Amino acid sequence: MKKIFKWLGVFLMSCFGLSAFLLTIGVNLPLTHYTQKEPIAAKLLIKNCHIVDVKNGTILSNHNIRIENGKIIAIDSVGSSSVAGFTVIDGSGKYVMPGLWDMHLHTLSLSPQLHFPLLIANGVTNVRDMGDGDSWISDIDAPLVKDKDSWDKQFTEQHLLMPRIWESCSYHVEEIDGITAQNTQEKVRELVTKLKQRGEPFVKLQLEDSELPAPVFYEIQKQAQLQGFSALGHLSYNVDIDTVLANGYPSIEHAWALIPHCVREKKRFEKDLETKAYELSHQDTALTTAVLKKIAAAHTYYVPTHVTSNRKEALVFDEKFRQDPRNQYVESTQLRLWKLWANLHTSGYDEPAQQELLYNYYQRGLEITRLAHQNGVKLLAGTDALDRYVYHGFSLHDELTEMTKAGLTPAEALRTATINAAEYYRQTDKYGSVEPGKTADLLLLDRNPLENITNTQAIHAVYFNQRLYDRNDLARMKASVREQAKSFGISCKFIWNMIKGMF
Ligand SMILES: [Zn+2]
Repeated sequence: MKKIFKWLGVFLMSCFGLSAFLLTIGVNLPLTHYTQKEPIAAKLLIKNCHIVDVKNGTILSNHNIRIENGKIIAIDSVGSSSVAGFTVIDGSGKYVMPGLWDMHLHTLSLSPQLHFPLLIANGVTNVRDMGDGDSWISDIDAPLVKDKDSWDKQFTEQHLLMPRIWESCSYHVEEIDGITAQNTQEKVRELVTKLKQRGEPFVKLQLEDSELPAPVFYEIQKQAQLQGFSALGHLSYNVDIDTVLANGYPSIEHAWALIPHCVREKKRFEKDLETKAYELSHQDTALTTAVLKKIAAAHTYYVPTHVTSNRKEALVFDEKFRQDPRNQYVESTQLRLWKLWANLHTSGYDEPAQQELLYNYYQRGLEITRLAHQNGVKLLAGTDALDRYVYHGFSLHDELTEMTKAGLTPAEALRTATINAAEYYRQTDKYGSVEPGKTADLLLLDRNPLENITNTQAIHAVYFNQRLYDRNDLARMKASVREQAKSFGISCKFIWNMIKGMF
């Protein structure tokens, strides 16, 4: 018997040793990334195309777009003669719209391999990074090398293909160690100062599982403002929305965060499903409208992220949802974790009544978006990509569809991923629509997106960073991610980053 244990011990040690050995090799394999190898087309003339006017929801038919050094210099309908020195492409029958923005996604240090090519291939040229998945779990006091800084360097020196990242946050506040009613101000000031020093763009509040006491939430807002930046993100159910808005909250993230604030007498139950049932049965339209009007008046943007918020919990019971063909773009360990979650979730809610409740909760999120829009709240499209069954790039198009399910017209949905995002960053002079003087981030579509929002997926070409990516280039970008997602080196690095994050 003793011998068996001895051999078992040796066997396990060998397995562990071999895994560690393989992991070490994998982690040290060099990484390759997708480079912008396509030639620069600094002077481009797109002839005879239909321009999608996202502001007015109209089409400007048969116009020419002249681009120089990445900027739209003229739009006209006269003549068909080519201009000297310009690369000319025939835009007949094509619909040209501004590049898309994903205002809520997450990155990893492996994003150059796994995510960026997918974003560009799907016409997502601008993003807000709500949490760099590797570094946000790092100790706040540890020295930090922001991924974004190294990507910017690689972009310039090695032609890394990447979208424009407007902000990249690498820390989220979930709880504050050792905080008491007496030391709230001091503790919060200390934390916010550290975040400011490490160059965070804002203080991200992440309150899914834990609830900070409401006074701490408000203090974070106040301290952030005092130090010249802002707090934004999730809303916990225990805060008073009037106070939050009065203190300044530039954007509210996720449908689930808003639902509890549209309920008479907010309440929490031990079981999540009970809370959801209560929130559905105690929803109040007059209250909801009043809350949304206040959000609109405070100029707070709302990023419902329907594709992640409540939708996957409702749809994952469908085998087709779990077997999404886009799983091939997901790194294998990550996909295994998604499947594990799907199994736990589906077996935890195996009664039809439970599933119906989850579905109604998802629908309630859409209903609030409809009311938000009707009451003047500025909406932004965001996906929360990196979360389960959300795919970088592809899911932004799904989110646009969700916006139309909520009741927005295709034109209104397009605004949430173009001009509204540019407005959020006060950049409407340069971005968000196809107009002279603006940056030429363009999508050429085969079909009219104003007729059907899913036509944003009929991408014929993308023009970004002075390069024209045709259908073959876009297919190559996707193929490179499929390959990287299966690569041994990437998997080892993914696992290694996860292990590092645990300690
Ligand atoms: Zn997120």
